[in-house]
Order: sequence, then C-alpha cells, then structure tokens
Amino acid sequence: MNSKTESKVNITIDSMQLNVDSKMTIIQAARANGISVPHFCWHPELSVAGNCRICLVEVEKLPKLVIACATQVSEGMVVHTRSPKVINGREAVMEFLLINHPLDCPICDEAGECKLQDYAYKHSVGFSRFDEDKVHKPKRHALGPNVMLDMERCIMCSRCVRFCEEIAGEPQLTFANRGDHVILTTAPGEELDNPYAMNTIDICPVGALTSRDFRFKARVWEMSATETICPGCSRGCNMHSWARNNEILRNTPRQNPEVNSYWMCDHGRLSTFGEVNSPERIVTPLIRKGEDLVEVGWDEAIAAAASGLKSFRRSEIAALGSPFATNEENYLFRKFVQEVLGAKSMDYISRVREGDEDDILVRADKTPNSRGADELGIRAEENERRLQGIMEGIRQGTIKVLYSLDGDLGSVFETELLDKLELLVIHSPVRNGTTAAADIVFPLATYAEKNGTFTTFDGRVQRIRPSVAVLEADRALDGFSMSRLDKFGTQFDRWAKGQRRDARPAWKVITALANLMGKKYRYPTVEDVFNQMVQSTPSFKGMTYAKIGSKGLRLEGSVVPATVEAR
Ligand code: SF4
Ligand code: SF4
Repeated sequence: MNSKTESKVNITIDSMQLNVDSKMTIIQAARANGISVPHFCWHPELSVAGNCRICLVEVEKLPKLVIACATQVSEGMVVHTRSPKVINGREAVMEFLLINHPLDCPICDEAGECKLQDYAYKHSVGFSRFDEDKVHKPKRHALGPNVMLDMERCIMCSRCVRFCEEIAGEPQLTFANRGDHVILTTAPGEELDNPYAMNTIDICPVGALTSRDFRFKARVWEMSATETICPGCSRGCNMHSWARNNEILRNTPRQNPEVNSYWMCDHGRLSTFGEVNSPERIVTPLIRKGEDLVEVGWDEAIAAAASGLKSFRRSEIAALGSPFATNEENYLFRKFVQEVLGAKSMDYISRVREGDEDDILVRADKTPNSRGADELGIRAEENERRLQGIMEGIRQGTIKVLYSLDGDLGSVFETELLDKLELLVIHSPVRNGTTAAADIVFPLATYAEKNGTFTTFDGRVQRIRPSVAVLEADRALDGFSMSRLDKFGTQFDRWAKGQRRDARPAWKVITALANLMGKKYRYPTVEDVFNQMVQSTPSFKGMTYAKIGSKGLRLEGSVVPATVEAR
C-alpha cells in the first residue's frame, strides 16, 4: 500500500459510503460531504473543546452516543446523525442549554442569525419543562471598546476564549465561577481590545457578544448583504457589507481561505464605511467660479474639464492615479492621460504606515489597490516625472495642471503648492483641503457604490460590488420635493438623501471626457473596461468577471503565499 491509500478510510454516514482522510473527525468528514451536524463550540479554525455536546452522533458498535467534533474516523465506521437515539440526545442537550437562556429573541441582535434559535426550531421539543426561576446575570457588560457581553445569553461554548488565544494571540478572555453561575469575563487587568476582538461577535453562536457600534441599529432580515472587499489595507479581506435604506450599517468577514480565512480586523470592519456615510460627501460636481466652488451639473463639469485640459501643452500636465481606485479606473485613467492628454508625468501617492502591520492580516499599506496601480503602469519606470518630479515641476511653474484620481493629496501636497497650479481637476467622494484648492471636482463613487476589481498586495484580483446606490439620482427623485419626501418619514428620507449623492465611478467620467476631447471611448459598462484591460495587460491574461467570481483570481506569475490557515 502506498502512503496515499494508507491515509484514507472507508466510512458510512447516514447510508452514504465515503472515502475520507483518516485524520478527520466525524464532523469534518460529514461537513466535507455536505452532511450537516449541529454544533455550537466546534469551529473549523479553532481547537476542539467538545463542551456543548450538541454534535452527538451514533456510531454502530459503540455503547453510547459520541461527539462528532472529537471522534476520529476509522476504517469501517458506520455513523448515524439522524437516528431516533441521536435526536433524543440532541433534544436533551437543547433542553439543558435552554434552561437558563433568556427568551429575549425579540430584542436580541443575533435573532435571525443565531445558531441557538435555529437549533431550537430544528432540534428542540418546542416547550420547556423548567418551572423554576432562571439564573440571572448582568446583561450589559462592556468587555472592551467594541464588544458588549450579555452574560445570561452565554452558553459557555468557549469559542471566543479560544479565538483570542489561538488566532488573535491575546488571551484576554476566560471563565469565572462554577456550575450555572459560571460567567465569561476578561482576564485580570485585561480588556477585550485586541485588533481582532470583534470576530468573537461573529463566532459567538448566540447573542451573548454584540457589537457596541451596531447594537439595536437593525434586525438582520431588514438588511441586504453584499459580497465585497475591505478597502482598509492591501490584504483585501473578503467581507459582506450590510445595508438598510441605502446606508451601510455593518461589515462582517466573508470566508476566503487564501486571503482572510474567517476573519477581519476591527479597523476594517468599523472604519471603512465612515466615508460612504460621511456628511462631507460631495453630492454634485463643483466648479470654481471666482473664490467659490459652485455646484453644477455633470455636463457642465465635464465640458469645463475638457476645455481646460485642452488649453495646456502636454508637458504642462501631470496626473496622479490612485491606490484607492479600482483596476478599471486606474487602467482607463492611464490610457486617457497617455492617449488623450499626451502627458508623461504620472504617479500615485502611497499610504504605507511603516510598523503598522501584524503577522495575522493587517498590512502597512493602507490602500486596497497599490499592487493594481503598479501592474497598470501608474508608477512605471518610463514615466517622465514621478511624484517628486511632479512636485518640483509645480514649484518651478513648468507643470501647470494636475489631474488626480486620488481625492486627498494632503499627506504630500501642501496647499501653497496646489495653489500654484493653474488647473486642478480631481475626483473625490468627500470635501477636504484638496477639494477646497481644486478648480473642478467630480464627486466620486466610493468602493461601496461601484463595481470593479482591486488587486491585493500578493496579486489576487478580487471583485467589489455596490452595496448602496448613488447613480441615477435625478431620475430616482423625479417628482419628489424635499417637503414631500419628509412625509414619507425618516427611513425613506434617509434613502432619498442617499440617492441624492450623484457620485460617479471615475471610469464613467473619463469615458465622457475622452469622447468630448475627440477620442472614441466605448465602454457601456465597467466590465467592458475590464475586458479591454485584460487584453492589453499580460498579468491579467485570461481573466473575466465570471472567472474571478466571489473568491478572486491570482495574477499571472504572482507568488502563491501560504494560506491564512497554514500560517
Ligand atoms: S460569549 Fe458566545 S462565544 Fe463566548 S463562550 Fe459565550 S456563547 Fe461562546
Ligand atoms: S486587515 Fe486590512 S483588508 Fe483586512 S479587514 Fe483589516 S483593514 Fe480590511
């Protein structure tokens, strides 16, 4: 026998004959073959605790039920996950778990995505024989800046404790007391404040741990979840962006074994939708008229930019792409700058914060797409001038125009330097010091409002998708006055204000600009831009949106790193 056959065993689960890895436990073998075994304390990325007992299964020739999470498969094993004996055992476990559990599903944030609630429907008898008083414990205990604990809801599964020790590397949680008075608490002198603390909320199988930011903002079923990518750093964690009434309310990690496993950092989860919901959002194009930036329509803004850009020599124009922009936007931007403006001075501003990274997920590069900008030649060797040269050119007066896809140049360009320019055209989602110095501002759709792709630091191209809407604002609001909108109440009013953000992805604006300046750019959709980018950029060879799917595709020739699990 070779080692390959030695490592496999034949087992039967619920009459299905399976050939599985001999190192697997029953729950792993079942899961790998689409058979679901209920579990609370078991998690595929954590050590086995075996304390909740809900994964009981029957193994022929064994006298008692066994827990599927801690029982390894063996040759010839016959397992039943739905026999009368198993169902009886499961119902007993559920009854035990529910003895002291408060029945506050109607006000619990977890309702709708709670394992205990789901299993109470699927694996419980539907009534309680418990007449005594339940044990009461504190219901609002802040474990740290982002996580709130309801001690009555905790079923002591220890997932959160193991996560902190095994994944975050910070043993901040522990249990105190005994029996039915046991409580989850922080270790002496500790707060639950590690950079990954909020993952405990996702893996808590009940509503014991809730987000202090999201608590009571919405019921799960009121929101839509969009598959997208965190723009907080170059790791590109996969996430769901949850929105209601055109407002993002929370982000949660989406599993991708090659990028972020099941996790994301608290910064990415909490901070990346601030800009989307910001009161500083620019809701319509702006043009400088005298001292003031004046709101205008899209046609006027694009016409002004086209005529302004045309009136300078190519050597007087510099361009800045953006590591926050999508691959499609940077591609079309570079093409436009080279083909239409004929400018050869181009670069982008990095946002690397040396030292601000860890060996779990967080990267020092605080942008989602510098690798993409590099691949697409925004910072190419052959560019006549790069960032320092462009700044020097502006100082000396040889560069008179700056066209920027990056909406915030403040980390590098002082206002006095921007003031030396004769024309500053910029795409920006929010008002800031740079937009205050600009001559033409195009309101930019954020990552949460457009389709496209980002490329991670290690060369994985991943799709972003809109979770809130901004486009077609005027059409959506046809016939509505603000006073009429108010009559629809707060929720509709919020939705309508969201619709009023008439921001556009940069590729659309660049297409319109190019056509006005005499080039025929035909890109009805962003996918058309992507397809042309793939044809003209060897490292993206063979990619399509369909092939990228929800997990991404690696650039041709990029090194495949160890998976997150393997680290
Ligand atoms: S708080 Fe949640 S994850 Fe932590 S032990 Fe209790 S039930 Fe488990
Ligand atoms: S590690 Fe980076 S990409 Fe992942 S959640 Fe945090 S900020 Fe976002």
